Amino acid sequence: MADATGDQFTERFTLAEVLSIGTELALGQSLDTNAAWIAQRLAACGIRCRRHLTVPDEIELIRDALVTAGRAADVIVATGGLGPTADDLTRQALAEATGSTLIEDATALAQIREFFRRRGREMPERNRVQALRPECARIIENPCGTAPGVQLQLGRAQCFALPGVPSEMRAMFERDVAPRLRSVAGGSVIRSRILQTIGLPESELGARIADLMTRGRNPEVGTTAELGVIGVRINATADSPAAADSLLDEAEREIRGRLGDAVFGQDDDTLAAAVGRLLVKRGATVCTAESCTGGMIGAALTDVAGSSRYFRGAVVAYADELKTAALGVSPESLRRFGAVSEPVARAMAENARSRLHATYALAVTGIAGPTGGDAEKPVGLVYLALAGPRGTVVREHRFGEDSDRYAIRVRTVRAALAALRLELLHERTTG
Ligand code: AMP
Ligand code: MG
Repeated sequence: MADATGDQFTERFTLAEVLSIGTELALGQSLDTNAAWIAQRLAACGIRCRRHLTVPDEIELIRDALVTAGRAADVIVATGGLGPTADDLTRQALAEATGSTLIEDATALAQIREFFRRRGREMPERNRVQALRPECARIIENPCGTAPGVQLQLGRAQCFALPGVPSEMRAMFERDVAPRLRSVAGGSVIRSRILQTIGLPESELGARIADLMTRGRNPEVGTTAELGVIGVRINATADSPAAADSLLDEAEREIRGRLGDAVFGQDDDTLAAAVGRLLVKRGATVCTAESCTGGMIGAALTDVAGSSRYFRGAVVAYADELKTAALGVSPESLRRFGAVSEPVARAMAENARSRLHATYALAVTGIAGPTGGDAEKPVGLVYLALAGPRGTVVREHRFGEDSDRYAIRVRTVRAALAALRLELLHERTTG
């Protein structure tokens, strides 16, 4: 597939662009979930999405986006702007982009009429515009709504324009578009896997798998970092799902070998679920004593189905008096060292462990900000204690004064779960 853009994937992939049409999307007032869904489905059909474009309901912008996409892509999937109202301009834009005129499609009109008839209503006159299509286009039937889609040749691309309503768009994509795309893609498939990691900084992780991340390799390997968790994405292209999966398996084995214990799961797996599996395996339980996270560690652990097997409970103690009353932290410690300190975190963990009768206790106390920090104890300072059968370990974390409250709290939750996970892994090999 020839391409003048110098795209590195040109030789290997059938390329698509996804065009989202809607002022509410361009202004960020509603989330463009269609684009993500379509790009994933394209990949499953063996087609690589090279770009997403979002434009408001303005005819020149829609037309220009279509023309540009028609120069670079083999496939365009557009959604939105096919309704019956004045701001639905995709039909006109398609006609202008192809230099075609709009004609009324008799079959489409009959289907729209039939849609209303089945609901016991006359077709309102304004819905009649939805039967218009560029002369060069084919109608894509909408089995669950009034807006038909259209397919036409646009530049070098096959362009599919579908309605914006997600349920209608999805039904039409599966029914009509996907089967046609499989032949366009020439039988190749793209399969993906994500290995979830924690504990290795992104630079160190990147260095360990640098050769696998070289551009243009198949499988293609890349990383995404989000608040302490780094995902290693693997995308494999092959002639069959089985061949793609075996490329993924091979890459996964290699990457796991290089990253060791840092890999805690795959795809949608969570750190809390990984910790839960290890607790079950060890026949162990856990409780938490939380100050700056306000119960988020307990919430993460209990997000996992079946967590009642190992989660004992949480004490959320913000006030100093409650750290004393509920968790037995001595007023003397609180006065001398402050609530955010190593001795207080240690006492919270050890006392929670004995009072809540758990094998392990995780305790956190810190400054989530944005206020309350000073030079000695800046925003982002967190003490994390883990008490267990082998004693208590307290770690000081500094998540950064410029991090926001949410980020500091989420990083604290993840650091706590990661600490417990490593302890459980270690026990497995030495215990
Ligand atoms: P439209 O086909 O432009 O009239 O869109 C109809 C409705 O579908 C909109 O009001 C949105 O609620 C929804 N919608 C449109 N585009 C998208 C999109 N890209 N992602 C998610 N929902 C969308
Ligand atoms: Mg719209």
